[in-house]
Amino acid sequence: MLSAKMQGLASGHDGELPSHTFPGAYPLFYIDSSMRALCPDCANKHEQLDNEVIEFDVNWENDSLYCDICNEQIVPAYGEDEK
Ligand SMILES: [Zn+2]
Repeated sequence: MLSAKMQGLASGHDGELPSHTFPGAYPLFYIDSSMRALCPDCANKHEQLDNEVIEFDVNWENDSLYCDICNEQIVPAYGEDEK
């Protein structure tokens, strides 16, 4: 499920929650109603989630942020070791 705010975001992006900001291409992550962090892939499977996706944010520099569903790292915009 998506909150009204997230529905508005998705409807501006062909019905999908974006994985990066535009412009800027900064990495986005999502937050559900239990305050779990979600990667964009999992946030887009919101029909399968128990909780509503309520918020999103840019991961600027948290290099220990992991998706609570799939455990994928949410890569920060400004990581320590950019390759
Ligand atoms: Zn995930």
